[in-house]
Amino acid sequence: MTTSERYAQHVLPTYGRFSLVPVRGAGVRLWDDAGKCYLDFCMGIAVCSLGHCHPKLVAAVRHQAGELMHVSNLYQNPLQAELAQEINEHHVRIPGKVFFSNSGAEANDGLIKAARRFGLKRPQPDGSQRFEVITFLQSFHGRTLGALAATGQAKIQEGFDPLLPGFRHLPFNNIEALENSIRPETVAILLEPIQGEGGVNCATPEFLRAVAEVCRKHDLLLFFDEVQAGFGRCGDAMSWRRIAEEIEPDGISWAKGMGGGVPIGSFWLSDRAVSDDGTTLSSLLGVGSHGSTYGGNPLVCAASLAVLIEIRERDLAANSLRQESRIRETVRLWNLPVITEVRGQGLLLGIALNPELIPTPEGKTPALVVVNQLMERGLIVPPAGPNTFRLLPPLNVTDAEIDEALETIHAVLCEFH
Ligand SMILES: *Cc1c(COP(=O)(O)O)cnc(C)c1O
Repeated sequence: MTTSERYAQHVLPTYGRFSLVPVRGAGVRLWDDAGKCYLDFCMGIAVCSLGHCHPKLVAAVRHQAGELMHVSNLYQNPLQAELAQEINEHHVRIPGKVFFSNSGAEANDGLIKAARRFGLKRPQPDGSQRFEVITFLQSFHGRTLGALAATGQAKIQEGFDPLLPGFRHLPFNNIEALENSIRPETVAILLEPIQGEGGVNCATPEFLRAVAEVCRKHDLLLFFDEVQAGFGRCGDAMSWRRIAEEIEPDGISWAKGMGGGVPIGSFWLSDRAVSDDGTTLSSLLGVGSHGSTYGGNPLVCAASLAVLIEIRERDLAANSLRQESRIRETVRLWNLPVITEVRGQGLLLGIALNPELIPTPEGKTPALVVVNQLMERGLIVPPAGPNTFRLLPPLNVTDAEIDEALETIHAVLCEFH
């Protein structure tokens, strides 16, 4: 029985999978089951921030696996406390507190629960709870019933009615639509400062500042979904800081790159006071209000600590920033008509394609046609929407590796004109 036969017989068909079978990785290289070597600029969709099997991450996991993998959150876990401190002091740098989940969707669910508690603490004028969270079109917040309702893409929600109520999706980067949208029941705004899955769309500084101002004016919580963009990927510890550095959000969610490959997510809530008696936002999720059996166990916390310390000590955010400008400069010099735009920041970049120049067979998008040709030539990249592919190399990628990927991209895209 082949792997794809086993899949067909035993695994739910929820993913459209490429036929590639990766079996081994080291740094930016990935090998398939036939021994072919690839340059991996997908990195598990921005997950393996240090590349495949980074020696420090491998050592941390090996050590902790032989020491203690799991204890319940009924007990103290020094690695969890240390990881929260690392995140607060070195990456967020705003007083607040962290909860550990196992994925990005769960992290966003946590923010949604925090918003509802806040809406109880600070209700509508008539005393009823505020509950509505505003999110944006083309956003992606995950696949749990909560995160799914927050996601602003009809195709992801199709067939799952009734969705969790209490969400409204507004056009992204549209200040006018935002300012007229707040209702008495509105309690929070959740957004990706850089939309990843939706095609790599950056919030403009004006828009992000307008969102923060609307939140201040209407007593709404401001939540950033940094699941894909956070922890150095976008050229700063947090992606919003490169757009409007001065903004202080009330909540943040993460996952993907924070574990370097182990399943860990988290959300953060600010310590700011939310009532005259000094109650803080971070205290609204008190004992018994939220939990996760696996969340932040010793194994994943040891791994995530190794990743975040490496990102900080090597200043990998600075490498992201530098590689972004090298990529942008090279693509600009190519001057290829098939590339309409390079969007994004740091090493979360989207190369947008002119669909009219790319012949597509039935059922394939221009992005998929290009992604397949790149794979054929040994470069792995993920699509983002129908007309864009993403570059998501590890944060420690070298000049030579970037140049190699760019050469392959150039060779493939030269064919379309
Ligand atoms: C991937 C992603 C999620 C969902 O994360 P999962 O770990 O798949 O649940 C949420 N938000 C953003 C911005 C993402 O990119």
